[in-house]
Amino acid sequence: MRASFYEGARRFRTGTAPEPSAGAGEALLHVKRVGICGTDLHIFQGHLDHRVPKGGIIGHETFAEIAEAPAQSGFAKGDRVVVEPLRFCGTCRACQMGASFLCYKLQVLGVDAPGGMQERWAVKTDRLIKVPASLSDDDAAVMEPLAIATHDVTRAEVKKGDAVLVFGGGPIGALIGLVSRHRGARVAISEVNPFRIELLRGLGLEVVGPGTDVVKFANDWTGGEGVDVAFEVTGNAAAVRLMTDVVRVWGTVSVVAIHSEPMMVNLYPMFARELTMHGSRLYTRADWEEAIRLAASGAVPVGPLVSRKIPLEALQEGMEQALAGGPVMKVLIDLTAR
Ligand SMILES: [Zn+2]
Ligand SMILES: [Zn+2]
Repeated sequence: MRASFYEGARRFRTGTAPEPSAGAGEALLHVKRVGICGTDLHIFQGHLDHRVPKGGIIGHETFAEIAEAPAQSGFAKGDRVVVEPLRFCGTCRACQMGASFLCYKLQVLGVDAPGGMQERWAVKTDRLIKVPASLSDDDAAVMEPLAIATHDVTRAEVKKGDAVLVFGGGPIGALIGLVSRHRGARVAISEVNPFRIELLRGLGLEVVGPGTDVVKFANDWTGGEGVDVAFEVTGNAAAVRLMTDVVRVWGTVSVVAIHSEPMMVNLYPMFARELTMHGSRLYTRADWEEAIRLAASGAVPVGPLVSRKIPLEALQEGMEQALAGGPVMKVLIDLTAR
């Protein structure tokens, strides 16, 4: 079967791998779509070499069809599923607290262990979630980032009437905006990429474009009070420097982006307005179920975010293009195409 292998910084190779077989408690998946995201771009650049082995198979945003499943597993051949790509110990402090997605020994399939960039994949059935027929194959591949977004919005307690400012209008920022809007919040997204700005506006989202003073915008937008919740989804120093300046008294700053370097934060407003700042990383099963409900019902339109589909053989080229910026939102690998 075909699979793609990480060969070290800036090198993927698509070749062949032995056909996997399902072990105890595992289903054999026929992988159809895998999304590429910011984490994968970090892997591509070699930033996660301490976690991704040479020859490793990445891909943690997977939609598949079941080729075979154990009897009595609740799954059967032909079922359409997404993969919750987490492995946790079940006994550490985090797991006992109900935060198994933050397990001290957490392994992410597609980062620390093999992921979805292979035609067939054996996965434990307790990691599989069925998706309804009303969700297209492409939309189903966006359920992992949408589960991130439902988690982020829930954790930040966004509610009806809130003003929400999202720094960064890539796929995760856009999905946070769409989920917040569905909860009844007013949403604005700060973004510089013209392709993304147009796409966000096409979804009816307000965009704060380049050259606009974001702090002034936030004040004007809220009668001088500041926004209820700000999400940091850029990973960019300029946004981090401003994120505490736009939030109201007792408001919330949520850090969603992966920051691998220390950043300058203005802590005076943290103190003066008694802000709350928290991180938001992965998801619970309930976050996945909400994501699937929101997309399947059409409440959150994910289809327009898919800007490009490429075959597995084009992974290297797709990574290079995504890294260069330009007209890119969500890129999917279509394992059924050549
Ligand atoms: Zn991701
Ligand atoms: Zn654990």
